[in-house]
Amino acid sequence: MSQIQRNPRSTLHALIPYGKGTSEVESLVSYFCRLAASHSVSTLVLSRTIAEHFEQIVAAGFDWHERQIAGIRESAFTWSAGLSALTSVQGLDRLTFLPWREVISQNGLSIVKRGQFCSACFAEDIECGRQPYFRLAWESAEVSVCSKHGQRLTRHCQHCGKDNVRHAAAFVVPGWCTHCGVPLAKAKEYQADVAIEPDELWRARQVGELLASQESITAEVSRNTYLAGITRIITELHKGHSASFARRIGIAKSTVHHWFKGDGTPTLAISMKIAAHHGTSLKQLLTGDLSDWQPPMIQKQLVLQLSSAVPKPHKTPREIDWLEIEKQLSTFLLLPTPISVLEAARRLDLEARQLYLRANKTTRQLGERWKTYLKRRQESKVIAAWPYLEVACLDLWAEGKAVTRREIVARVPEEILSPVANLLNVLKEVQAHLQRTGENENTHT
Ligand SMILES: [Zn+2]
Ligand SMILES: [Zn+2]
Repeated sequence: MSQIQRNPRSTLHALIPYGKGTSEVESLVSYFCRLAASHSVSTLVLSRTIAEHFEQIVAAGFDWHERQIAGIRESAFTWSAGLSALTSVQGLDRLTFLPWREVISQNGLSIVKRGQFCSACFAEDIECGRQPYFRLAWESAEVSVCSKHGQRLTRHCQHCGKDNVRHAAAFVVPGWCTHCGVPLAKAKEYQADVAIEPDELWRARQVGELLASQESITAEVSRNTYLAGITRIITELHKGHSASFARRIGIAKSTVHHWFKGDGTPTLAISMKIAAHHGTSLKQLLTGDLSDWQPPMIQKQLVLQLSSAVPKPHKTPREIDWLEIEKQLSTFLLLPTPISVLEAARRLDLEARQLYLRANKTTRQLGERWKTYLKRRQESKVIAAWPYLEVACLDLWAEGKAVTRREIVARVPEEILSPVANLLNVLKEVQAHLQRTGENENTHT
């Protein structure tokens, strides 16, 4: 078992993400751009590297700008797992909104189409001696201001005036305009003409608080707990009437019904409204932790009409015991015949992506062992086929024919030939070898 590398070297630089555990946590978009820059490659080349490495999961030849990689959908899952696999940095899904995927509907998180930023945040990055980076909060369309600097986020370069200059380019250095190359950093200055609404500031703070908490979340955030919290709100503030609750936040009663009786999950915008109208924070609401919540106005009710607000039992996400998974993965490492990461994931009833995100090192060890095994297995097939190929080449030369795949297929048994990958390359090697030995014999005679 000496072949098992203790910690296989990562393929890409193991950059440490900025701001983990704070409201200023870095976004995966930023991490991806910084990684490309640190390898001096374009974002396209880096996305192809990831696509190639993960060919079972990511389709090659696609535009990464289109994929909301810091969002909440499958693409965020795949990209964070892919980057964790290649950089050896575990848990890169915490640079996305994925920790909230149970309580924000798939289409319920609006991601800004054009990259917005706070120039004062960039200025502060430079002042503190770190690389400028994009905050995850900036990806949310709910966030329009920087709560730290109290100024509006922008998409424009103050030098060339171009729009969408944050990262929409082949080469991106976060913090510099992708159009004219001038720094986007600018110390905060008083802008009397740009008023900031208290509501905007409130929303930015709510998202910030949410993101600050997601690093420390251990258990999956559960939809059932979330809906139980909403039930409590409906009970205490709307006498159990979901219609009154729906009216209050300006949505159809059927929408509320769909959450409780169907598979519907509120959008982030609606959760914001619920929080704002009922005196909870967004984080309290989404985590269902209303223990500190004081209803803004207590209304005693005698009869609870809860029939419409009792959630239908919903499949809770499986609690995963990662210590146990680690143990299992370690036993897989000792199997006499190595298995692939995909196979390991299948046996554990998990996804390879989860393994890369939560059990990074052992998973990469499995991956390395499998690659080495495949290489060896391929080598042994070539060794077995080699004498047949030599004979076939010599025969073809003697007959004055060219060595083509077709001629070889006609001369070598299929069971010998079919396991050989890259047959044409192998044939080139065989011929080069024969030529060398031929020349040697000539010089000796
Ligand atoms: Zn700022
Ligand atoms: Zn510019």
